[in-house]
Amino acid sequence: MGVSMVSTVAELVRADHGPLALESMPVTGLMRTASLTGPITDSAASATAFATGHKTTNRALGTYPDGSRHPTLAELAEAKGLATALLTTTDLTDASPAAFAARVANRKEHVEIFEQMVATDIDLLAGGLRSAAVRFDRPTTKPAADKPYPISDGLRTRAAAAGRLMLTDPADLPTTTDDRTRLLLAYPERSPLDDAFGPRTAATLAAALPMLASDPDGFFLFAEIEETDCAGHAMDTDRAVAGVLELDEALRVALDFQKDHPDTLILVTADHDTGGMTLDNRGDYDSPRAEVLWISGNHTASLVGVYAAGPGAEAFTGVYENADLFTRIRDALALPHKAD
Ligand SMILES: [Zn+2]
Repeated sequence: MGVSMVSTVAELVRADHGPLALESMPVTGLMRTASLTGPITDSAASATAFATGHKTTNRALGTYPDGSRHPTLAELAEAKGLATALLTTTDLTDASPAAFAARVANRKEHVEIFEQMVATDIDLLAGGLRSAAVRFDRPTTKPAADKPYPISDGLRTRAAAAGRLMLTDPADLPTTTDDRTRLLLAYPERSPLDDAFGPRTAATLAAALPMLASDPDGFFLFAEIEETDCAGHAMDTDRAVAGVLELDEALRVALDFQKDHPDTLILVTADHDTGGMTLDNRGDYDSPRAEVLWISGNHTASLVGVYAAGPGAEAFTGVYENADLFTRIRDALALPHKAD
Protein backbone atom coordinates (compact mmCIF):
# COMPACT_ATOMS: atom_id res chain seq x y z
CA MET A 1 0.00 0.00 0.00
CA GLY A 2 2.37 2.67 -1.28
CA VAL A 3 1.66 6.37 -1.32
CA SER A 4 0.39 5.99 -4.90
CA MET A 5 -2.29 3.47 -3.87
CA VAL A 6 -3.44 5.54 -0.89
CA SER A 7 -3.64 8.72 -3.00
CA THR A 8 -5.45 6.96 -5.86
CA VAL A 9 -8.06 5.34 -3.61
CA ALA A 10 -8.49 8.63 -1.70
CA GLU A 11 -9.45 10.33 -4.99
CA LEU A 12 -11.75 7.50 -6.07
CA VAL A 13 -13.77 7.55 -2.83
CA ARG A 14 -13.61 11.26 -1.98
CA ALA A 15 -16.99 12.23 -3.51
CA ASP A 16 -18.98 9.47 -1.76
CA HIS A 17 -16.91 8.85 1.36
CA GLY A 18 -15.19 12.15 2.15
CA PRO A 19 -11.55 12.24 3.17
CA LEU A 20 -9.91 9.12 4.56
CA ALA A 21 -9.16 8.99 8.28
CA LEU A 22 -5.59 8.37 7.12
CA GLU A 23 -5.57 11.92 5.77
CA SER A 24 -6.27 13.25 9.27
CA MET A 25 -3.12 11.76 10.77
CA PRO A 26 -1.08 14.71 12.09
CA VAL A 27 2.41 13.31 11.42
CA THR A 28 3.65 11.58 8.25
CA GLY A 29 6.92 10.09 7.05
CA LEU A 30 8.11 8.16 4.03
CA MET A 31 9.77 4.75 4.23
CA ARG A 32 12.10 2.97 1.80
CA THR A 33 11.34 -0.75 1.54
CA ALA A 34 14.35 -2.21 -0.35
CA SER A 35 15.68 -5.55 0.94
CA LEU A 36 19.22 -7.00 0.91
CA THR A 37 18.21 -8.73 -2.34
CA GLY A 38 17.50 -5.48 -4.21
CA PRO A 39 15.14 -2.52 -4.57
CA ILE A 40 12.05 -4.77 -4.68
CA THR A 41 11.26 -6.47 -1.39
CA ASP A 42 8.85 -9.23 -0.51
CA SER A 43 6.79 -9.09 2.67
CA ALA A 44 9.10 -11.42 4.59
CA ALA A 45 12.20 -9.24 4.15
CA SER A 46 10.40 -5.96 4.74
CA ALA A 47 8.41 -7.12 7.76
CA THR A 48 11.61 -8.63 9.19
CA ALA A 49 13.29 -5.24 8.75
CA PHE A 50 10.66 -3.29 10.67
CA ALA A 51 10.03 -6.04 13.24
CA THR A 52 13.74 -6.45 14.13
CA GLY A 53 15.69 -3.44 12.79
CA HIS A 54 17.78 -5.56 10.41
CA LYS A 55 17.25 -6.00 6.68
CA THR A 56 17.48 -9.44 5.14
CA THR A 57 17.06 -11.16 1.77
CA ASN A 58 13.69 -11.85 0.15
CA ARG A 59 11.81 -14.86 1.52
CA ALA A 60 13.89 -14.96 4.73
CA LEU A 61 11.80 -14.45 7.87
CA GLY A 62 13.67 -13.34 11.00
CA THR A 63 16.86 -14.93 9.66
CA TYR A 64 19.86 -13.21 8.02
CA PRO A 65 22.68 -14.14 5.60
CA ASP A 66 25.24 -13.70 8.39
CA GLY A 67 23.36 -16.05 10.73
CA SER A 68 22.69 -13.34 13.32
CA ARG A 69 19.63 -13.30 15.60
CA HIS A 70 17.73 -10.20 16.67
CA PRO A 71 14.78 -9.68 19.02
CA THR A 72 11.47 -8.52 17.55
CA LEU A 73 9.37 -5.60 18.74
CA ALA A 74 6.82 -8.07 20.12
CA GLU A 75 9.52 -9.86 22.12
CA LEU A 76 10.89 -6.58 23.48
CA ALA A 77 7.35 -5.52 24.42
CA GLU A 78 6.86 -8.85 26.24
CA ALA A 79 10.19 -8.34 28.03
CA LYS A 80 8.90 -5.00 29.32
CA GLY A 81 5.68 -6.63 30.52
CA LEU A 82 3.35 -5.18 27.89
CA ALA A 83 0.37 -7.13 26.61
CA THR A 84 0.93 -8.12 22.96
CA ALA A 85 -1.19 -9.08 19.96
CA LEU A 86 -0.64 -9.94 16.30
CA LEU A 87 -3.75 -9.80 14.08
CA THR A 88 -4.13 -10.32 10.34
CA THR A 89 -6.83 -10.90 7.76
CA THR A 90 -4.64 -13.45 5.95
CA ASP A 91 -2.94 -16.56 7.29
CA LEU A 92 -1.54 -16.01 10.76
CA THR A 93 1.65 -17.69 9.52
CA ASP A 94 1.98 -15.28 6.58
CA ALA A 95 5.10 -13.16 6.51
CA SER A 96 4.06 -9.90 8.14
CA PRO A 97 2.64 -11.14 11.47
CA ALA A 98 5.13 -14.03 11.53
CA ALA A 99 8.09 -11.62 11.32
CA PHE A 100 7.29 -10.51 14.88
CA ALA A 101 7.30 -14.05 16.30
CA ALA A 102 9.17 -16.61 14.16
CA ARG A 103 12.55 -17.32 12.55
CA VAL A 104 12.77 -19.51 9.45
CA ALA A 105 14.99 -19.54 6.36
CA ASN A 106 11.95 -19.54 4.05
CA ARG A 107 8.57 -17.93 4.67
CA LYS A 108 6.77 -20.98 3.19
CA GLU A 109 7.61 -23.10 6.26
CA HIS A 110 4.09 -22.54 7.62
CA VAL A 111 3.97 -25.45 10.08
CA GLU A 112 7.31 -24.50 11.64
CA ILE A 113 6.16 -20.85 11.80
CA PHE A 114 2.92 -21.96 13.48
CA GLU A 115 4.82 -24.03 16.06
CA GLN A 116 7.11 -21.10 16.85
CA MET A 117 4.28 -18.56 17.06
CA VAL A 118 2.04 -20.57 19.40
CA ALA A 119 5.02 -21.21 21.69
CA THR A 120 5.65 -17.48 22.29
CA ASP A 121 4.27 -15.44 25.21
CA ILE A 122 2.25 -13.21 22.86
CA ASP A 123 -1.16 -12.73 24.48
CA LEU A 124 -3.28 -12.88 21.33
CA LEU A 125 -2.61 -14.33 17.87
CA ALA A 126 -5.44 -13.94 15.33
CA GLY A 127 -5.66 -14.95 11.68
CA GLY A 128 -6.36 -17.78 9.27
CA LEU A 129 -4.68 -21.17 9.52
CA ARG A 130 -5.22 -22.52 6.00
CA SER A 131 -1.58 -22.58 4.85
CA ALA A 132 -0.38 -24.26 8.05
CA ALA A 133 -3.36 -26.66 8.19
CA VAL A 134 -3.02 -27.93 4.63
CA ARG A 135 0.68 -28.61 5.17
CA PHE A 136 0.09 -30.15 8.61
CA ASP A 137 -2.86 -32.37 7.66
CA ARG A 138 -1.41 -33.49 4.32
CA PRO A 139 -4.88 -34.37 2.90
CA THR A 140 -4.76 -37.16 0.31
CA THR A 141 -6.70 -35.07 -2.19
CA LYS A 142 -5.61 -31.52 -2.94
CA PRO A 143 -8.05 -29.10 -1.23
CA ALA A 144 -10.01 -26.96 -3.70
CA ALA A 145 -8.71 -23.40 -3.76
CA ASP A 146 -12.25 -22.03 -3.90
CA LYS A 147 -13.56 -24.02 -0.92
CA PRO A 148 -12.96 -23.26 2.75
CA TYR A 149 -10.49 -25.59 4.43
CA PRO A 150 -11.67 -26.71 7.90
CA ILE A 151 -9.84 -25.51 10.99
CA SER A 152 -7.39 -28.29 11.68
CA ASP A 153 -7.86 -30.44 14.81
CA GLY A 154 -4.17 -31.27 14.53
CA LEU A 155 -3.17 -27.62 14.84
CA ARG A 156 -5.65 -27.13 17.70
CA THR A 157 -3.93 -29.99 19.52
CA ARG A 158 -0.48 -28.51 18.83
CA ALA A 159 -1.61 -25.13 20.14
CA ALA A 160 -3.04 -26.75 23.28
CA ALA A 161 0.21 -28.69 23.82
CA ALA A 162 2.02 -25.34 23.77
CA GLY A 163 -0.41 -24.03 26.41
CA ARG A 164 -2.40 -21.85 24.01
CA LEU A 165 -6.20 -21.86 23.88
CA MET A 166 -7.83 -21.76 20.44
CA LEU A 167 -11.00 -19.68 19.92
CA THR A 168 -12.85 -18.97 16.67
CA ASP A 169 -15.04 -15.97 17.54
CA PRO A 170 -13.71 -12.55 18.68
CA ALA A 171 -16.87 -12.26 20.85
CA ASP A 172 -15.34 -15.00 23.05
CA LEU A 173 -12.24 -12.92 23.83
CA PRO A 174 -11.89 -12.09 27.54
CA THR A 175 -12.03 -8.45 28.58
CA THR A 176 -8.86 -8.68 30.66
CA THR A 177 -5.42 -10.16 30.15
CA ASP A 178 -2.59 -11.15 32.46
CA ASP A 179 0.86 -12.73 32.22
CA ARG A 180 -0.65 -16.16 31.61
CA THR A 181 -2.98 -15.17 28.75
CA ARG A 182 -2.04 -16.96 25.52
CA LEU A 183 -4.90 -17.11 23.00
CA LEU A 184 -5.15 -18.16 19.37
CA LEU A 185 -8.12 -16.69 17.52
CA ALA A 186 -8.40 -19.02 14.50
CA TYR A 187 -10.56 -17.45 11.83
CA PRO A 188 -12.86 -19.26 9.47
CA GLU A 189 -12.35 -18.21 5.85
CA ARG A 190 -14.15 -15.01 4.94
CA SER A 191 -14.03 -15.77 1.23
CA PRO A 192 -11.73 -18.55 0.08
CA LEU A 193 -10.98 -16.98 -3.30
CA ASP A 194 -9.99 -13.69 -1.69
CA ASP A 195 -7.44 -15.18 0.72
CA ALA A 196 -9.26 -13.42 3.56
CA PHE A 197 -10.19 -14.75 6.98
CA GLY A 198 -12.42 -13.70 9.86
CA PRO A 199 -14.48 -10.62 10.56
CA ARG A 200 -13.60 -7.13 9.39
CA THR A 201 -10.52 -5.75 11.14
CA ALA A 202 -12.53 -3.01 12.84
CA ALA A 203 -14.57 -5.70 14.64
CA THR A 204 -11.50 -7.66 15.76
CA LEU A 205 -9.81 -4.49 16.98
CA ALA A 206 -12.91 -3.45 18.91
CA ALA A 207 -12.93 -6.86 20.62
CA ALA A 208 -9.19 -7.00 21.32
CA LEU A 209 -8.51 -3.44 22.53
CA PRO A 210 -10.37 -3.66 25.90
CA MET A 211 -8.55 -6.89 26.73
CA LEU A 212 -5.14 -5.43 25.86
CA ALA A 213 -5.87 -2.12 27.58
CA SER A 214 -6.51 -3.96 30.85
CA ASP A 215 -2.74 -4.48 31.21
CA PRO A 216 -1.46 -1.65 33.46
CA ASP A 217 1.91 -1.83 31.66
CA GLY A 218 0.29 -1.03 28.30
CA PHE A 219 0.27 -3.03 25.09
CA PHE A 220 1.80 -3.53 21.66
CA LEU A 221 -0.65 -4.52 18.90
CA PHE A 222 0.11 -5.22 15.23
CA ALA A 223 -2.86 -5.55 12.85
CA GLU A 224 -2.49 -6.32 9.15
CA ILE A 225 -5.02 -5.99 6.31
CA GLU A 226 -3.83 -8.15 3.43
CA GLU A 227 -6.36 -6.97 0.84
CA THR A 228 -4.29 -4.06 -0.56
CA ASP A 229 -1.46 -6.46 -1.53
CA CYS A 230 -3.92 -8.97 -3.07
CA ALA A 231 -5.53 -6.10 -4.99
CA GLY A 232 -2.19 -5.01 -6.38
CA HIS A 233 -1.24 -8.53 -7.48
CA ALA A 234 -4.65 -8.87 -9.19
CA MET A 235 -4.50 -5.25 -10.46
CA ASP A 236 -8.07 -5.05 -9.18
CA THR A 237 -9.26 -1.51 -8.46
CA ASP A 238 -12.39 -2.56 -6.52
CA ARG A 239 -10.29 -4.70 -4.20
CA ALA A 240 -7.82 -1.86 -3.64
CA VAL A 241 -10.70 0.42 -2.66
CA ALA A 242 -12.12 -2.30 -0.37
CA GLY A 243 -8.72 -2.87 1.26
CA VAL A 244 -7.96 0.79 1.91
CA LEU A 245 -11.52 1.35 3.22
CA GLU A 246 -11.24 -1.68 5.54
CA LEU A 247 -8.02 -0.14 6.85
CA ASP A 248 -9.67 3.24 7.24
CA GLU A 249 -12.60 1.74 9.16
CA ALA A 250 -10.16 -0.03 11.50
CA LEU A 251 -8.15 3.18 11.91
CA ARG A 252 -11.33 4.98 13.03
CA VAL A 253 -11.78 2.35 15.77
CA ALA A 254 -8.18 2.94 16.85
CA LEU A 255 -8.60 6.73 16.80
CA ASP A 256 -11.81 6.44 18.87
CA PHE A 257 -9.93 4.26 21.37
CA GLN A 258 -7.17 6.88 21.46
CA LYS A 259 -9.71 9.58 22.45
CA ASP A 260 -10.37 7.63 25.67
CA HIS A 261 -6.73 6.51 26.02
CA PRO A 262 -4.64 9.53 24.93
CA ASP A 263 -1.39 7.76 25.86
CA THR A 264 -1.80 5.53 22.76
CA LEU A 265 0.53 5.90 19.78
CA ILE A 266 -1.03 4.82 16.45
CA LEU A 267 1.07 4.10 13.34
CA VAL A 268 -0.16 3.07 9.90
CA THR A 269 2.27 1.84 7.26
CA ALA A 270 2.87 -0.87 4.67
CA ASP A 271 5.65 -3.37 4.10
CA HIS A 272 5.81 -2.37 0.41
CA ASP A 273 3.74 -1.12 -2.50
CA THR A 274 2.11 -3.55 -4.92
CA GLY A 275 0.92 -2.66 -8.41
CA GLY A 276 1.98 0.99 -8.74
CA MET A 277 -1.66 2.07 -8.88
CA THR A 278 -2.24 5.61 -10.14
CA LEU A 279 -4.65 7.84 -12.06
CA ASP A 280 -4.13 8.95 -15.66
CA ASN A 281 -6.03 11.60 -17.68
CA ARG A 282 -4.46 10.64 -21.05
CA GLY A 283 -3.03 14.16 -21.26
CA ASP A 284 -6.44 15.81 -21.41
CA TYR A 285 -6.06 18.60 -18.84
CA ASP A 286 -9.47 20.05 -19.69
CA SER A 287 -11.20 16.87 -18.56
CA PRO A 288 -12.22 16.19 -14.95
CA ARG A 289 -11.94 12.47 -15.69
CA ALA A 290 -9.04 10.16 -14.98
CA GLU A 291 -8.79 6.40 -15.13
CA VAL A 292 -6.89 3.94 -12.98
CA LEU A 293 -3.61 2.60 -14.31
CA TRP A 294 -1.59 -0.25 -12.82
CA ILE A 295 2.13 -0.66 -13.58
CA SER A 296 2.12 -4.44 -13.05
CA GLY A 297 0.85 -7.13 -10.71
CA ASN A 298 4.12 -7.14 -8.77
CA HIS A 299 5.64 -5.35 -5.80
CA THR A 300 7.24 -1.98 -6.59
CA ALA A 301 10.04 0.13 -5.06
CA SER A 302 7.74 3.11 -4.36
CA LEU A 303 8.10 4.67 -0.94
CA VAL A 304 5.34 3.84 1.52
CA GLY A 305 3.80 6.31 3.94
CA VAL A 306 4.09 6.17 7.72
CA TYR A 307 1.09 7.92 9.29
CA ALA A 308 1.35 8.66 13.02
CA ALA A 309 -0.82 10.06 15.80
CA GLY A 310 -0.30 10.20 19.54
CA PRO A 311 2.56 10.67 22.00
CA GLY A 312 5.92 10.29 20.25
CA ALA A 313 4.43 10.63 16.77
CA GLU A 314 6.92 13.38 15.82
CA ALA A 315 9.69 10.75 15.72
CA PHE A 316 8.17 9.26 12.56
CA THR A 317 8.74 12.22 10.20
CA GLY A 318 11.35 12.22 7.42
CA VAL A 319 12.47 9.69 4.82
CA TYR A 320 13.98 6.56 6.30
CA GLU A 321 14.67 2.85 5.90
CA ASN A 322 12.14 0.20 6.93
CA ALA A 323 14.76 -1.10 9.40
CA ASP A 324 14.78 2.34 11.06
CA LEU A 325 11.05 2.08 11.76
CA PHE A 326 11.97 -0.61 14.32
CA THR A 327 14.34 1.74 16.15
CA ARG A 328 11.82 4.58 16.15
CA ILE A 329 9.06 2.34 17.56
CA ARG A 330 11.39 0.77 20.14
CA ASP A 331 12.47 4.19 21.37
CA ALA A 332 8.97 5.73 21.26
CA LEU A 333 7.72 2.92 23.53
CA ALA A 334 10.93 2.96 25.64
CA LEU A 335 11.35 -0.77 25.04
CA PRO A 336 14.50 -2.52 26.24
CA HIS A 337 17.25 -3.32 23.69
CA LYS A 338 17.35 -6.98 24.67
CA ALA A 339 14.54 -9.46 25.15
CA ASP A 340 16.18 -11.34 28.06
ZN1 LIG B 1 2.54 -9.36 -2.36
